[in-house]
Amino acid sequence: MKKPKSKRKRKPILSSPPPIIGSYDLKEQPRTLKSKKIKIENSDGFIKNKKRRGKKKSTSSSSSSSSPFPNYSRPTPEEAYQALEELESVHGKIQKPKSTKDSIPVLDSLIRTILSQNTTDITSARAFSQLKTRFPKFEDIEKASLKAIEAEIKCCGLAEKRAQVIQTILHTLRKERNELSLEYLHHYNDEDVKKELCRFKGVGPKTAACVLMFCLCRPEFPVDTHVWRITKNLKWVPSQSASREQTYMHLNARIPDEIKYQLHVLLVDHGKCCKKCAKNHKPRRQPIDYCPLTFSNSGISTSKTKKKKNNVKVVKTELIKVKMETKVRVKKECM
Ligand SMILES: [Zn+2]
Repeated sequence: MKKPKSKRKRKPILSSPPPIIGSYDLKEQPRTLKSKKIKIENSDGFIKNKKRRGKKKSTSSSSSSSSPFPNYSRPTPEEAYQALEELESVHGKIQKPKSTKDSIPVLDSLIRTILSQNTTDITSARAFSQLKTRFPKFEDIEKASLKAIEAEIKCCGLAEKRAQVIQTILHTLRKERNELSLEYLHHYNDEDVKKELCRFKGVGPKTAACVLMFCLCRPEFPVDTHVWRITKNLKWVPSQSASREQTYMHLNARIPDEIKYQLHVLLVDHGKCCKKCAKNHKPRRQPIDYCPLTFSNSGISTSKTKKKKNNVKVVKTELIKVKMETKVRVKKECM
């Protein structure tokens, strides 16, 4: 597989300790699939309002170099690195994939990410596995009835909608390229990948960002529900009312490229188990009482951080359990 060609210049800002272990567990989100009102393209990420502005392309115009809050200087690179260090102290270090050689095919990644919208990793992985077992080749899915596709993915909800989205993508690729593959995206720059993916109905900026980061190994910073909630509390965006897309565009512009992957993964992990940072303070995993993140208006408080780090020793046993869980998930979810 050819190496991706990212035209974005990487910004060496600060030295960062090399990541050791990896995790891929970002897409677990609350199950809200019983609501028929949910639309995949909306639940994918950022367009909560029913009135979608213009064509989908308008949502894919985000650039790592453009923030909707250009005068808001947080997070600084130092704050981002500090947060990473704090999260690593609890959850362990994350290994960022160095190349796409271990990546799954882009089309697999896209479909798996579509299945992961608004459901848990376990459920979406099961749906994807069942789909690929029943239809090993994309040509099989292309020709299958929607009902047959729905039957394999119904465990993750919104099966009818998702089946349509998936098959429409395949039909589009057949019509345009006569090939059921998205491997050509390896040769596109980041913005063109976003445009190419977001033109598909049911594919929004978050799905595109996930494919870019996890499959194409590009410096992207997807903003899921955990990242959104925690970074707003960290005041990394100027307002609590910042939308998810605004948050994504701002953070994608401000987080140093070198740590986007690690910080994203750790924030998602943290949002699932920290009693302070979890949604409604109700962790969905083995909860941890200790929160290493420093929340302040002016930035990271070093003395507070040091004090907190000492507390890590007190809850060492608890944290080891968390790290072990992270390592296990890495193996399952990394692909
Ligand atoms: Zn926390």
